[in-house]
Amino acid sequence: MKTSLAIPVVSTKKSRLPETDFSNLVFGKTISDHMFVADYKNGEWTDLRIEPFAPLELSPANATLHYGQSIFEGLKAYRNEEGEVLVFRADANWSRMNESAERMCMPSIPEEIFMEGLVQLLELDKDWVPHAKGSSLYIRPYMFAMDNYIGVKPSETYKFIIFTCPVGNYYSKPVSVKVETEFTRATEGGTGAAKTAGNYAASLYPALRAQKAGYDQLLWTDGKSHSKIEESGTMNVMFKINGTIITAPINSGTILKGITRNSVLQLAKDWNQPVEERFLTVSELETALIEGTLEEAFGTGTAATIAHIERIQVNGKDYILPQKPADAFSHRVLAELDGIKYGSIEDPHHWIIKI
Ligand code: PMP
Repeated sequence: MKTSLAIPVVSTKKSRLPETDFSNLVFGKTISDHMFVADYKNGEWTDLRIEPFAPLELSPANATLHYGQSIFEGLKAYRNEEGEVLVFRADANWSRMNESAERMCMPSIPEEIFMEGLVQLLELDKDWVPHAKGSSLYIRPYMFAMDNYIGVKPSETYKFIIFTCPVGNYYSKPVSVKVETEFTRATEGGTGAAKTAGNYAASLYPALRAQKAGYDQLLWTDGKSHSKIEESGTMNVMFKINGTIITAPINSGTILKGITRNSVLQLAKDWNQPVEERFLTVSELETALIEGTLEEAFGTGTAATIAHIERIQVNGKDYILPQKPADAFSHRVLAELDGIKYGSIEDPHHWIIKI
């Protein structure tokens, strides 16, 4: 991609590439050499730079540490057969980040700063994009408050950083999930639609309880009545019942507007696959499981793209889903999205930018 913003670069004196074992990558543990940084002061983003990935110096009074005014994004870059680096739907992550920023009283990031910071960082660290089939480079843009002030109010200064992590082949084995009817991820009027740190902190305790009970993830339900399915862990969730895909709508303010969700719905439309964007109730889900009309259930998200669900607990009872045929919608949609991301098939919606 052609870039026009002049971002100064301080390169690392000693790359960590030679000591990195690309055949043994643990998600989120291996971090590439450089990071892009911008500071927000006096009402504007300044001091854009790329520098070696290194610890930050923070005041113990840093507002983020106390009140969690912090937002983030997650997206991936992939290597195609020709060795080129492709990034999937970065513009969608940029706009979702600014929606999160608004909800959390944080400044928006101009598209140019987000995109050029990202592209120039990837140009510098392109050797960190793994070559092995199915692997990718996870990209983490995030912004947090930098005021040193112990009082609850929006910060006046912020830091925006992008760093990247090479990640191995993320094959998600089919997961088992439990309908959560005690705890809540998000309520109407809350922050569920924002990708903000506190949402994830609050989800740890119920998720851990589900894991202790033998489930991989939760199926979150609405906070008022716990009768409507919202999301699954850190993924959006879709059910195919009697030939129709049903997934929660994104206008309640309780659901994260997943970019994978949006991409799956676009492909469903392209393929004339019937879709209903509405809440599936827990009792509808239970009935479909009992009557055998639930054909497929799967999570959608950047990490796994599609995570097949094989077991669901509803009202204390476990149900095993039927084996999916090879041409099931979730298999086809995963193959199509992988093909677009790795550049082996056409990209009709212009989701890819080439670095
Ligand atoms: N819901 C939540 C709560 C998430 O954290 C994520 C991961 N970003 C998703 C859904 C899926 O979003 P995406 O497809 O953009 O990764």
